[in-house]
Amino acid sequence: MALPAEIAEVVGDAREWEGRSWFPPGPQLAVCLSGGKERLADLTDGELLEVAAAARRQTSWAQARELAAIAELAGRRADGDSEDDARVLSAHESVTDEVAAALTVTGNAAATLVHLAERLADELPATRQALEAGRIDLAKARVICDVTESLSGDVVEHLEAVALDKASGQTSGQLRRRITRMARRLAPDAIEERKRDAVRGRRLEVWENPSGTASLALCDLPPEEIHAIYNKISAAARGLKADGDPRPLGVLRVDLAKQLLGGPEFPAAVSALLAQAADTESSPQPADDVAIPALAAMVERRLADVSDHVPPDELPVAIRQAAQEMHGKLAQRRDAVCQGDDEAHGRPGYRPSAALRREIETRHATCVFPSCNRPSRRCDLDHTIPWRPGTTCRCNLAPLCRRHHRLKQSPGWTLLQLWPGLLIWTTPAGAWYIVRPDRT
Ligand SMILES: [Zn+2]
Ligand SMILES: [Zn+2]
Repeated sequence: MALPAEIAEVVGDAREWEGRSWFPPGPQLAVCLSGGKERLADLTDGELLEVAAAARRQTSWAQARELAAIAELAGRRADGDSEDDARVLSAHESVTDEVAAALTVTGNAAATLVHLAERLADELPATRQALEAGRIDLAKARVICDVTESLSGDVVEHLEAVALDKASGQTSGQLRRRITRMARRLAPDAIEERKRDAVRGRRLEVWENPSGTASLALCDLPPEEIHAIYNKISAAARGLKADGDPRPLGVLRVDLAKQLLGGPEFPAAVSALLAQAADTESSPQPADDVAIPALAAMVERRLADVSDHVPPDELPVAIRQAAQEMHGKLAQRRDAVCQGDDEAHGRPGYRPSAALRREIETRHATCVFPSCNRPSRRCDLDHTIPWRPGTTCRCNLAPLCRRHHRLKQSPGWTLLQLWPGLLIWTTPAGAWYIVRPDRT
């Protein structure tokens, strides 16, 4: 197929990148950028930098599109929001989880995306346009969103205009410093209030690192308190160093902090209790007369078939019904498998035994929401069907964090356990996610 003349002009010649630093992003630029590797080898150094910059503009354009789609979906969900109900997630939180699952990003990343999408759609139209035109990248759009957060409309408008005026020639760090200074001048009270708000949300955070280590941070404290703690620890570390400790100063600081925070041992009673639980029970595995991968594949096929044959506006209901139907059809076999095991199925109590808890936590190492990473030992063991008629059994328990426990009860969402450890989520948009046990 022949290329349109204006594109052929751009892609056809050996020196196509020369002097095109502001060729705008969009379909034409995408064509220019899709040359094979060997074409890059033919370019001069200067042209390679032009290509990198052009690809970055194209990325900004695509990100603007991604955010616009998210804002549109969030707007639709907000229209159907019911009033406050602590048992379920708000429409806003629920759409965040839809985005997390669909884009395979963490809950935090999705929350940031939804928030940015909404701000760009409602309050920062010029920033949205600048991103779409490739004049700024996503990092700078985030800076403008952050600094103008919770300021009054006219201040936001003014700051946005000032920010965009020089943003394409500044790094995100330079941009942040410049407009933060201006925001403090324009709205000192609001900036102070924002800081107090952030301090109210102060917390201790833990995360794991790729190297197999973990980190701990005191977050959102007033800077003077953080600097005071750091200076105190540093002074003690320098004292040790002066006395001849061979460890580097940075290592001494963290070793001191660890001693300060480590605190006393667990009371002996708790340790004894844990040891008791560990030897009284072993974890029986359920008799597995259905291969879970085969069942999961069958479910996937069935739902894909439904989604191929149903008009889009009926999809969420049709998917939910199809999933529930399969869950119903499997009920007898599920029961039969579980009753073969005298212990657990239909266990009268609400609380699972220590052995059952361990079995469930081993089956799913994290919360069973597809994008959630919270370790199951820090989750609740949720009765997939609420206790009574739901049983306290491996066929009806799965780890859910608090947030996803509420999501499960939110309008438009369902969670079913088709087979012990094989769960299926259906979403307000009519998507579905099959969650398998970790070990199959
Ligand atoms: Zn059971
Ligand atoms: Zn979760």
